[in-house]
Amino acid sequence: MKADKSFTSCRRVQQQEYYLITVIAGGTGSVKLVRGIAATLEAQVADRSKKEIGLTVISNVADNIWLHGLYVCPDIDTVIYGLGGILDESKGWGIQGDTFAFLQQMAMLGEPTWFMLGDRDLATHIVRTWMIREGKSLSEVTEWLAKRHGVTARVVPSTDSPLVTRISALANDSRSGRPEPVSMHLQEFWVKHRGEPQVVGIKYDGLESAKDNPAAVQAIKSSRMVIIAPGNPITSIGPIVALAEIRKALVHDRKKVIAVSPIIGSSAISGPAVKYMQALGIPNSPTGVAQYYSDFAGSFAISHEDKGVAEKIRGFGVDVLQTDILMRSRQDEIRLASFLMQHLNR
Ligand code: GDP
Repeated sequence: MKADKSFTSCRRVQQQEYYLITVIAGGTGSVKLVRGIAATLEAQVADRSKKEIGLTVISNVADNIWLHGLYVCPDIDTVIYGLGGILDESKGWGIQGDTFAFLQQMAMLGEPTWFMLGDRDLATHIVRTWMIREGKSLSEVTEWLAKRHGVTARVVPSTDSPLVTRISALANDSRSGRPEPVSMHLQEFWVKHRGEPQVVGIKYDGLESAKDNPAAVQAIKSSRMVIIAPGNPITSIGPIVALAEIRKALVHDRKKVIAVSPIIGSSAISGPAVKYMQALGIPNSPTGVAQYYSDFAGSFAISHEDKGVAEKIRGFGVDVLQTDILMRSRQDEIRLASFLMQHLNR
């Protein structure tokens, strides 16, 4: 297989380019807001002559996993498919209308099939893997893939280094029959074990030696606004903001950082956020997330329903924005994006 020639002309970040908004993103929750921001920006900046990069998305990589010899990047792909208009929105991952013949065949061969990979989706992982094997970085491959999907936003992995979220969960020891902590990849815990075992620890493997993506750090520094999208605070946003240079840039520019609560009341809108937060002793509430983010997020958007906790959040030195933070439709996505972007020129 040969790399597409357009790959060699991947855009280099130039000094004069101007970043407007950077979004720190996980997967299913984040992509809705990312799509809303992209649509709002497109309408706003389409007629400007100034050379600017409207939107940079810093994507989580710590849920990436090697499967069947392929490098699978679920959060990056969700963002690319979402912005490219092919995301299966009912699932929140994969490509709409995809088929699963490959997996059926793998099952026939006795191979593990607990992680769903669609036939069309498979092409992404195959191409990504051989490009990485040819020596391209994850950033280069991601930029190329985004372009191929017609995505105009920059999608930037938080790091090109190996970084993996590992969950320590209780499983019955085969010899003693007693529950013992077992360390497993996040995807194994959430997909293979359906998030059922009790979680006793979470760590980001590789964090000490991981090198922050300079393009991500630069985007944060140069943006007029940084939005922390609603994503799992522990396994999607956590592994991005744990990277030293990214965190330093966010803390330094804290005033321009707005985070959106992934929690309303005491429940996550989807996924296992609450389970992970409880395991780490973080209260499962917007207050818990706001405090967790308080050293790098100057503002925090919560649901009107949670107005009762606004004062407590302000006590962490965080401004509170109250709005409807639930995105059930494209209109909701654009409404929330526009609301947040009103704060761009404060
Ligand atoms: P996952 O839950 O572990 O798959 O992590 P993701 O990073 O993909 O994000 C899901 C997070 O986004 C969850 O914590 C959800 O509560 C949150 N979420 C999903 N949909 C929405 C929404 O419409 N609004 C808000 N504010 N949060 C959402």
